[in-house]
Amino acid sequence: MEVIKVINDELNNLFEIRTDDGYTIESVHYRGNTLCISSQVGCSVKCSFCASGLKGLIRNLSFEEIIDQYKLVVKNGFNVENITFAGIGEPLLNWENVKKAFEYFKSLGLKVSFYTTGFPLSNFKELLTINHNGLTLSLHSVLEDKRKTLIPNSHSIDNLISTLEDYIKNLSSRKKKLYSIGYLLIEGVNDSQEEIDILINIAKRLGLSVSLLKYNEIEGIEYKTTTDEKYEEIFLRLRKNGIKVTLSNRYRTRKIGGCGTLMVNRLQCSTF
Ligand code: SF4
Repeated sequence: MEVIKVINDELNNLFEIRTDDGYTIESVHYRGNTLCISSQVGCSVKCSFCASGLKGLIRNLSFEEIIDQYKLVVKNGFNVENITFAGIGEPLLNWENVKKAFEYFKSLGLKVSFYTTGFPLSNFKELLTINHNGLTLSLHSVLEDKRKTLIPNSHSIDNLISTLEDYIKNLSSRKKKLYSIGYLLIEGVNDSQEEIDILINIAKRLGLSVSLLKYNEIEGIEYKTTTDEKYEEIFLRLRKNGIKVTLSNRYRTRKIGGCGTLMVNRLQCSTF
């Protein structure tokens, strides 16, 4: 693997990394010490809002290809203390290699966190139990049919929530803080009062915080970002109901390196 280009703005560094068989994957260095890495070339979950899964899955990354993203970024002079599996691919669908890479990163003293759709459930159950430093379950909708249109290949909401609940119910409150529910707001799709009230009930039942994410608009995908006013309104509604909320920070809401914007083979098909 080799770095073929680093695309940056004032906050993020997007690494274009070519695999030995000629695909380009991406990793993002942000906040001065954090690296978001990819686990697959493409993604078979095919979330309808995400650029990474547009073309489906090409193949899994090997253990070496996962850790090489870290090694290459460090070699380029960047400080890395935190790894987050939130780049291209669903980490649970390449679980054996991701698990090995997780152990490797932990052995270096790095903090490792995950974003996951919870699919497949057997691997999700295992992920819940490992010594991670943060796990966000990407829910994005509380209505079964709608979630299917947003995340076509996943389990039912009930299945995911009860699996999560079964595991976290016995955790100390300190440990519980490592778990959260991810909710990506898309204008007119999942931001109604009714849906947010269901989200509040789920978060209350689980005793978890909500990571409220702003959508980054993507060329070729019709979804729109929720307005600042709506975002603020939903944030306040969650807070008023006693839910702890983490907001999308400025690193995540960018054209370069923002959530859901990473692509396979970008340089062949984009103007960046
Ligand atoms: S959001 Fe994650 S799971 Fe969904 S298509 Fe994108 S990379 Fe895959």
